[in-house]
Amino acid sequence: MLKIENVTKYYGDFLAVDDLSFTVNNGEIFGLLGVNGAGKTTTFRMINGLLDKTKGTITLDGKPIDYSVTDKIGFLTEERSLLTKLTVKEQVIFYGVLKGMKEDLILERLDYWLERFHITEYKERKIKELSKGNQQKIQFITAIINEPTLLILDEPFSGLDPINVQMFMDVIKELKKKGTSIIFSSHRMEHVEMFCEKLVVLVKGKSVLSGELKQIKKEYRKKNIHIVCDEIDIEKLKKVKGVIDVIENETDIIVKIASNDNVSEVFDYIKTCKGVTKFDVEDATLNEIFLEKVGVTYEN
Ligand code: ATP
Repeated sequence: MLKIENVTKYYGDFLAVDDLSFTVNNGEIFGLLGVNGAGKTTTFRMINGLLDKTKGTITLDGKPIDYSVTDKIGFLTEERSLLTKLTVKEQVIFYGVLKGMKEDLILERLDYWLERFHITEYKERKIKELSKGNQQKIQFITAIINEPTLLILDEPFSGLDPINVQMFMDVIKELKKKGTSIIFSSHRMEHVEMFCEKLVVLVKGKSVLSGELKQIKKEYRKKNIHIVCDEIDIEKLKKVKGVIDVIENETDIIVKIASNDNVSEVFDYIKTCKGVTKFDVEDATLNEIFLEKVGVTYEN
């Protein structure tokens, strides 16, 4: 279990992380979100022992972060940090040994992961000869080669095609099932929604929203109604009580309402329309919630 308590980080006079607290339990996937410069990388570096905190405590399974603890952490950094002149095998051995592993165990696990990611043929190739996506797979393998109890993933899916995103997600979910605590950042809200049970949103280093994703979505009053209908008067719909906005898509209409209490008013109007085949009330998306909390959209 990772526990962050009242952690603050100043760079000189600049406050980068402001009194941050959260817990990531074993077998839990936790999202650390925020726009560029919010303090995510700073937080990851403090957790990984690469950066001193100014105040507060960070513990993994009850122990403060030191070298004995960092051997149990895997870190996929945002600025990719492969030694590109090395071969894949040399690179992974290098990091495995740094984490206190014996070479034969590293090679055994490496063979497994290379096969799993369909890149066995690159084992003896130099990193710089690999495509960006395959380099990222190697970086991911490097982060998990020590079977970490805490896995930190800073933007793990950036630059990956959808098939590889799925492959990474499958492995991450497997690690979660085995009890690994996973903390990750992503600019893609749909990844966060698919994945995270809990999250914290940082604005200028301070938490502005935190808790369980399900609860956050339930408590957020604004909802979206998805409607499919043959004939509808959009101007009339916009005037229904509680309707904030109406978005007309190719195949459906999304009605944004101020609260669950307004569903019946929209329903009363929709009943008067012809050819209604869909009326689904859904929670707001995480991106919409983020937008309201942070004041900017999080999508790139
Ligand atoms: P991004 O999404 O762009 O990676 P981030 O959320 O990871 O951003 P950080 O890299 O943690 O943000 O930076 C937080 C703030 O601290 C930023 O305003 C940044 O400019 C500042 N900062 C980061 N590193 C240093 C440093 N070494 N010295 C001074 N300020 C720094």
